[in-house]
Amino acid sequence: DREYMLAYSYDATGLEYLPDAVLFAEHERDVQNAMRICQRHSIPLIPRGAGVGYTGGSLAVNGGLVLVFTRMNRILLLDKENFLAEVEPGVITADLQEAAEKIGLFYPPDPASLKTSTIGGNVAENAGGPRCFKYGVTANYVLGLEAFLMSGEKIHLGAHTIKNVAGYDLKALLIGSEGTLAVVTKVILRLLPLPPRRLLFRVDFSTLAAGARFVQSVIQGHVQPAVLEFMDKSSLQAVYAYQGMSGDPRVQAAVLVEIDGSPAEVAEREALFKEQVDKAAPVQYERAATFAEQEVLWQTRRSISPAIAKLKPKKINEDIVVPGGRIPEMVEFIEALAAEFNLCIVLFGHFGDGNIHTNLMVDPEDGEEMKRVAIVLDRIFKRVIEMGGTISGEHGIGLSKKPFMHYQFGPLEMRLFRDIKKVFDPDNLLNPGKIF
Ligand SMILES: Cc1cc2nc3c(=O)[nH]c(=O)nc-3n(C[C@H](O)[C@H](O)[C@H](O)COP(=O)(O)OP(=O)(O)OC[C@H]3O[C@@H](n4cnc5c(N)ncnc54)[C@H](O)[C@@H]3O)c2cc1C
Repeated sequence: DREYMLAYSYDATGLEYLPDAVLFAEHERDVQNAMRICQRHSIPLIPRGAGVGYTGGSLAVNGGLVLVFTRMNRILLLDKENFLAEVEPGVITADLQEAAEKIGLFYPPDPASLKTSTIGGNVAENAGGPRCFKYGVTANYVLGLEAFLMSGEKIHLGAHTIKNVAGYDLKALLIGSEGTLAVVTKVILRLLPLPPRRLLFRVDFSTLAAGARFVQSVIQGHVQPAVLEFMDKSSLQAVYAYQGMSGDPRVQAAVLVEIDGSPAEVAEREALFKEQVDKAAPVQYERAATFAEQEVLWQTRRSISPAIAKLKPKKINEDIVVPGGRIPEMVEFIEALAAEFNLCIVLFGHFGDGNIHTNLMVDPEDGEEMKRVAIVLDRIFKRVIEMGGTISGEHGIGLSKKPFMHYQFGPLEMRLFRDIKKVFDPDNLLNPGKIF
């Protein structure tokens, strides 16, 4: 059915590749049968969750079968005694969080796409999110996996335990492998006790650099926040326009800080945080104690991506990470490049862990502008690697970041990646054309 093909031909990159067929897996036997048939007839197979990936990982670049997991969405087990969940890959991230919270448990990884993204997609991309600053990324919560190789054979990796050093850590290899090594059909996840209290703050600054320095002072001041998110002036203005509101013209940057823990811990951390706020002398500062107040502040942060998409025809969305202490320097470097090359660059992201979403807003029809973009990206990636950072913190490589792999890896590392791929998928049928 052509409509289905069209609906599964794109993701959040806006790139489009029409598959030859789409199959909705409902049980693991559907997965196994599909893989066996594709292997036998040399048909590419592309696993797909919700299709909100930012790097084209779920796109059928060489045609083939798109295997969609949204109907394989059962939460199989929530184990309060052992702090565990077992889920199928199509479970929506927010649904797992809500189900866990109902029984006093907590699944921390919180990509901004959490109301749509699937656990399978999160595992395949090793997704992060605001709370990952304190709690770690998806990989920190995956205890075990069940998956199918392209041959249709089933593998069991990891265990139901936190400690496990038996054999090579193939589970770790699969996490973040972007659906290129095996297809995940079950995920065993670690849960935590739900923190009883949360406070959210928004602190506004008159310069970008002051906001970036504040992030560092909060970390160095032992506040131990769960979240340290940053939004620059362009992000804020775009969100206000999107929401039909007007912002304070003095504000050039805003920092969102969440503190969680027991009431006593939260009180202690809030006092430490307040010391840093007083030292930084921000333009203004807001405290959200209730869930409803906090959702209003979160809404601004979560609206940035759709809001900035309206600024220019295309968003080149980079996902660089630098060591935390280098953030102010990196932010100033990018600001200077934007001014020198007359480009609209929007910065926001998870500054607590050094992850700067660097969005170059461009018009692809403007050849002259695209030449300047190429120079700026080259300089940014070179500086990121010089600082000891990485070209992607959470969005993965997929299709769109492939051209930048050489900044981070030499021929030997690239050869090892290819050799590993051959061990799992010798005929290059599973999600071909991704990563390298
Ligand atoms: C507005 C917006 C905000 C975002 N915010 C964040 C953020 O804060 N943090 C973050 O990390 N990411 C973020 N992302 C990126 C994206 O949402 C994540 O990468 C997410 O994990 C993708 O999940 P998905 O279910 O849509 O996967 P898809 O896009 O469908 O697939 C992603 C990859 O996973 C593979 N895959 C899917 N299911 C399986 C499976 N069962 N077995 C093997 N491979 C599989 C696919 O082949 C593909 O390579 C954001 C995206 C958007 C659009």
